[in-house]
Amino acid sequence: MIEKSDNLATSPALQGKIEQALDLFETCGDSLRQDTSIHTLLKKLRDCIENTNQSMLSLGVVTECKNCEEKEGGSCCGAGIENNYDPILLLINLLLGCPLQNHEPIANSCYFLGKKGCRLTARHVICVNYICEKLQRKLTRKELIVLQTSAGEELDTLFFLHEAIKKRLRAKP
Ligand code: SF4
Ligand code: SF4
Repeated sequence: MIEKSDNLATSPALQGKIEQALDLFETCGDSLRQDTSIHTLLKKLRDCIENTNQSMLSLGVVTECKNCEEKEGGSCCGAGIENNYDPILLLINLLLGCPLQNHEPIANSCYFLGKKGCRLTARHVICVNYICEKLQRKLTRKELIVLQTSAGEELDTLFFLHEAIKKRLRAKP
């Protein structure tokens, strides 16, 4: 069981959202997972995320981001980006088996940034869609299309899942 006190979020707003997500996970997690359409969308989202991650790996994006982190003074995952996450998106991460707490947050960075990159499984549209200038220069047009296509499929699936969960929670007696 995930203890709320394990969360070390510095922002009270984020702390509140994490607590809401944990409450929803505890009270509705099982029934959400048993819902056929949510179950299917969770599986599809996991596959899409894996596909995006593979594209990032094969196109050298992961290596470039690692270089930023290790040699160029830090990644672009800046402080405050975590505040864009809502409780449902955080809940989706819990449903995918991704814990929300970060015991070693990095100063002046997004709360969800860990030593090996983003700790979340399902990321916000602003994180998934972001392609910095360095990457835009490095990648060919064809490579950018590959990356944008997998990101687009991931985000479409995330949107439908987000909506399905909201609808299910509204219908809950
Ligand atoms: S997206 Fe660009 S700026 Fe951000 S960590 Fe990766 S390479 Fe660096
Ligand atoms: S990719 Fe992850 S660590 Fe980076 S800004 Fe987005 S949520 Fe934060």
